[in-house]
Amino acid sequence: REHLDQVRRDAMTDGLTNLTNRKAFDESLENLSAKADAAGEGMTLAIIDIDHFKGFNDAWGHQIGDQVLRYVASVIGRLGATPRIAARYGGEEFAIIFPNENGRTALSVLEEIREEISSRVLKRRSTNEDLGAITVSAGYAERVSGETTTSLIERADAALYASKHAGRNRTTAAVPMVAVETVAAA
Ligand code: GH3
Ligand code: MG
Ligand code: MG
Repeated sequence: REHLDQVRRDAMTDGLTNLTNRKAFDESLENLSAKADAAGEGMTLAIIDIDHFKGFNDAWGHQIGDQVLRYVASVIGRLGATPRIAARYGGEEFAIIFPNENGRTALSVLEEIREEISSRVLKRRSTNEDLGAITVSAGYAERVSGETTTSLIERADAALYASKHAGRNRTTAAVPMVAVETVAAA
């Protein structure tokens, strides 16, 4: 029993960062969306991406890059703790589901994450070398009742893209969506 729980947990967890993996994230987003609709509750989705991470890897190497990924994940995991779901969405991209929380709350959490990461000067453990600071960009979208997961992700992703385009190291709200369940005028 305990062994089975462990197996299940491992299958849901990203090995490098210990956050929820992509597969489990996709399932959670579907399940929580259905739950939100059933309960008439809202939800917010955020996507967070490390800025210029290719350059960081090129400068310091993939192994130090992996350590930075783990550091960023630890901040995201702490501020995205249960009942929120913090996931590794892709290589250097993360997502947080905020069940029953609005964009205003998500924004304050994302800004806390962003400021904490950007204000820390990273040091290489072995040599104490200064690695500089790294930054993250984020986008978030408040779910509209009945909205598909695809649409919600697209809107959060577009907001992330806007953060990148505006200069990075910032958080942007998605364009609000018109309610899905409006009835067309006859
Ligand atoms: P942007 O600010 O536009 O996001 O620039 P970027 O360089 O972060 O974005 P890009 O998509 O060009 O590159 C992402 C880089 O992230 C490429 C790869 O070197 C790095 N990366 C992705 N996954 C991992 C990983 O698991 N470990 C390490 N060390 N690096 C990773
Ligand atoms: Mg990036
Ligand atoms: Mg990326």
